Amino acid sequence: MAVAQNQAVNTCKLLVGGEWIQSSATEFSDVFNPSTGQVIAKVPLGGEADVDRAVQAAQKAFPAWADTPIVERARVMFRYKALLESRYEELSRIVTREHGKTLPEARASVQRGIEVVEFACGIPSLFSGETLANIATNVDVETVRHPLGVCAGITPFNFPAMVPLWMYPVAITCGNTFVLKPSEKVPLTSMLMAELLLEAGLPKGVFSIVHGGKDCVNAILTHPLIKAVSFVGSTQIAKYIYEKGTANGKRVQSNGGAKNHIIIMPDANMEQTVQALQAAAFGCAGERCMAGSLAIPVGEAADEVVDRLVDSTSRMKVGPTDGEDVPDMGPLISAEHLSKVKGYIDKGESEGANVALDGRKLKLEKGFFLGPTILDKAKAEMSVVRDEIFGPVLSVVRVKTIADAIELGKQCPYGNGAVIYTNDGGAAREFKHRFNAGLIGINVGVPAAMAWFPFTGWNASFFGDLHMQGKESIQFYTQQKMTMTRWFAPNATESKYSDPVWKAKQ
Ligand code: NAD
Repeated sequence: MAVAQNQAVNTCKLLVGGEWIQSSATEFSDVFNPSTGQVIAKVPLGGEADVDRAVQAAQKAFPAWADTPIVERARVMFRYKALLESRYEELSRIVTREHGKTLPEARASVQRGIEVVEFACGIPSLFSGETLANIATNVDVETVRHPLGVCAGITPFNFPAMVPLWMYPVAITCGNTFVLKPSEKVPLTSMLMAELLLEAGLPKGVFSIVHGGKDCVNAILTHPLIKAVSFVGSTQIAKYIYEKGTANGKRVQSNGGAKNHIIIMPDANMEQTVQALQAAAFGCAGERCMAGSLAIPVGEAADEVVDRLVDSTSRMKVGPTDGEDVPDMGPLISAEHLSKVKGYIDKGESEGANVALDGRKLKLEKGFFLGPTILDKAKAEMSVVRDEIFGPVLSVVRVKTIADAIELGKQCPYGNGAVIYTNDGGAAREFKHRFNAGLIGINVGVPAAMAWFPFTGWNASFFGDLHMQGKESIQFYTQQKMTMTRWFAPNATESKYSDPVWKAKQ
């Protein structure tokens, strides 16, 4: 476990052909512990040379891996699941250290990732094609799935374990080889997870890691041997990845940012709703693509929701997540991001929103901290309502009817998640059917699809055709082959060749 033990002080290495090697990069970026602001590792900002080394090794490993029986490929995932579980606590602590999530949040995120490995263990049952006997006289048809070749994944900072695990367990079990470029802000979790994959018996070269930022990503998008790219990150970059990747002939699935609307009907159970809303808005310090960042109380729900929420949220304990105490909320990822989020609060206030709870007042000696913030009486046209802030800031837009809430959803450029709190089945059904988003929650705070279902973001929250997770992910990482077979029966009487498929209708 040399890499995992030394990574706190070392420069991160690449994983190429099953070996940890130095990058050829000349520029490096710092990895911080956001709770303290201390640098805990350096990450090389690699480019074409590093990507090519990894891709060549992946290409070399592909034929043998693609020919390995699928049940044997799945058995690697069974061993991987056991190893991830045996190192669950260590992995969760690394997530906390490099990202800043509280330990319970980190554990939950690792668990969500392990569930994708569980899904991958079952891929043999989902991999089979279709057959139809005698589709024409004496002709049988079958489809079978084939892997694509070298696939790549580019991931964001906010879920260092879970988001990479959305991709490579499925891609690899489908018979592909995979090159991962983790976020340069949180590379350490991916490196430990890679070691466990080798320990699980994955052949060398089937999984590789490269490090870097924009140059590294561009090298992936233009490398001729890479067949498919999975991306998760902000909308601006997601769109760029989709356009550039597809222009270079690759299959691309690209998840973007979000602004998730939470509608509260007057008949909702207020105590449960406020607890769930608080968790959805301020869990993981709001750095979640499924964070409930815009509350929309309907009619008379507004005063009670806001009063209770301000009261409950003001008691949240915010602090370092890497010590003995477990706070309710940890830091943001970086000083730069902290200042961007504070800038949004300033702007919301200057545009006329009422700062019902002001997280800017929180002062801690070290780290990148901001307290939970509630901006009440915000208006549809304000940037705090339109934009993804990606921090512990909840904007509240008060509306008169559920139709107004649904209309507000139509104006939103994103379409990841949306939630309604109500006891009225009719209102819930109307919301589920009409709301302009792909992941819907009814009395569920953060309806992020679990591993067995696709992560169905809409609009500017997703670019591509086939989503991550569930059966769609198997479709994304495979191509089908149709075979049409005709055997002549032992006593066949055909005297001359004729093609039964092309026989004209009599
Ligand atoms: P980001 O877009 O800044 O970075 C994501 C990846 O893109 C990183 O690996 C980064 O190195 C790379 N990158 C950054 N700038 C680039 C550029 N100019 N050219 C090429 N590559 C570049 O996102 P982030 O800040 O790491 O993560 C937060 C974002 O991710 C939020 O918008 C969040 O909503 C989104 N997210 C979406 C989902 C989803 O499933 N929809 C899930 C998690 C996070």
